[in-house]
Amino acid sequence: MSHDLGYIEPLEIELKRDLGQMQVKWSDGHEGHSTFVTLRWNCPCASCRGEMGVPGRLDFVKKLGPDEIEMESLEAVGLYALRPIWKDGHETGFYTHEHLRELCECEQCMAERPTKFHHHRLVTNQHH
Ligand SMILES: [Zn+2]
Ligand SMILES: [Zn+2]
Repeated sequence: MSHDLGYIEPLEIELKRDLGQMQVKWSDGHEGHSTFVTLRWNCPCASCRGEMGVPGRLDFVKKLGPDEIEMESLEAVGLYALRPIWKDGHETGFYTHEHLRELCECEQCMAERPTKFHHHRLVTNQHH
C-alpha cells in the first residue's frame, strides 16, 4: 500500500475505446485516466515484465501491435487488483490498485511527476 496516500481504490472505471484510454474515479476523489498503450507497456505479469532478474518480453520489443494495445474488458481480481483482457488474448497481468494509480496520466499526476515514464514504462526507482 502507498505510504503517501493511504489505501485508495477505484470506484468507477470506464473504458473509452474511441480514445484508447481508461478513465478512473478514485475513492479519494481523484479523477484520472491512463492510456491503453501505457497500461500494456506496464503489464506486471512475469512474461511481459520478467521476474527474479530475468528480463521479460517488454524489455526486448520496441513496438507493440494494435491488438496488444486494445483493451477488450477489465475484470476485478479479489479486492485489490484488476486484470485487463487484451485483444491479442493476453490476460495474465494483475494490476494492483496502487500500481494503477501510479500509471495515472492525468494532467495533475503528470505535472507532479513529469519524468515518471521512460519509453512508456514507469520509472520505479525514484525514491525521495
Ligand atoms: Zn491522475
Ligand atoms: Zn503481461
